[in-house]
Amino acid sequence: MIQVDLSGKQALIMGVTNARSLGWAIAEQLLQAGARCAFSYQDERQRPELERLTAPYAGSLLRRCDVGVEGELEALFSGLTQDFGRLDGLVHAIGFAPKAAMEGRFLDTARSDWTLTLEVSAYSFLAAARGAEPLLNRGAGLLTLTYHASQQVYPRYNVMAVAKAALETTTRYLAYELGPAGVRVNAISAGAMRTVAARSIPGFSSMYDHAARTAALQRNATQEEVGRLGLFLVSPLASGITGEVIYVDGGQHIMAMPADPSGVAKPS
Ligand code: NAD
Repeated sequence: MIQVDLSGKQALIMGVTNARSLGWAIAEQLLQAGARCAFSYQDERQRPELERLTAPYAGSLLRRCDVGVEGELEALFSGLTQDFGRLDGLVHAIGFAPKAAMEGRFLDTARSDWTLTLEVSAYSFLAAARGAEPLLNRGAGLLTLTYHASQQVYPRYNVMAVAKAALETTTRYLAYELGPAGVRVNAISAGAMRTVAARSIPGFSSMYDHAARTAALQRNATQEEVGRLGLFLVSPLASGITGEVIYVDGGQHIMAMPADPSGVAKPS
């Protein structure tokens, strides 16, 4: 088994609510590989849980940053320049859509809900990359989290699907512009996972159950599996990979139909 040693490396993780968060799944792998991590959180109410999670990892730094509030991203990066230093990784695990935009028809999406969703869920990755740029070491890996609804229709995912499509395109353009500096930018397209953000998606349980039935592996992927891909993509093992959207969904997105009910593909 290949061991990844990230000692001496530093990463910023944006968007951890609790131990189920995909941001934490990736952070945990980076921390266990020896990296030092800074975390940004949206709201002071999230800080105690983040303090609890990071307690075993000396040197972790916690900073508040609501990416929807003017000036907070800039303040985050000027603080990191002083208190943390250079970066070898950045994990953007932030997404938000107002409830009304996911409960109703896509046709009825309000302009303000569209703008807010795309600003928080997609623009913030671009803005974070720009803020981080002066701190990035050659070989650094930037990562974001997306979902297959950018490619195919998942009823009620609505404007969030548009934000994910924007996020994936943002990934490619950032990869192009940061490539000459030796910085890589990739997206992980995760399968449905039970997290706080997922709970706010109407019909999430049926998405989750459908994914398990449809996936080539006949099960949902796990947070730990997302974490391991995150570790790989941030690490020098992925030195030739940039601008990619890589799926960790048990092979759900390759299937046009649920698995053969006759069980032909199942071992006898
Ligand atoms: P989560 O609720 O654990 O994390 C989402 C985070 O986004 C939270 O920490 C929240 O505080 C943060 N956030 C929202 N608005 C913010 C703002 N204005 N400023 C700063 N932070 C803000 O849920 P998660 O499922 O781990 O979500 C992480 C990412 O993974 C999201 O982009 C989500 O769309 C994506 N994703 C999730 C799934 C899934 O099924 N859970 C699947 C594919 C992709």
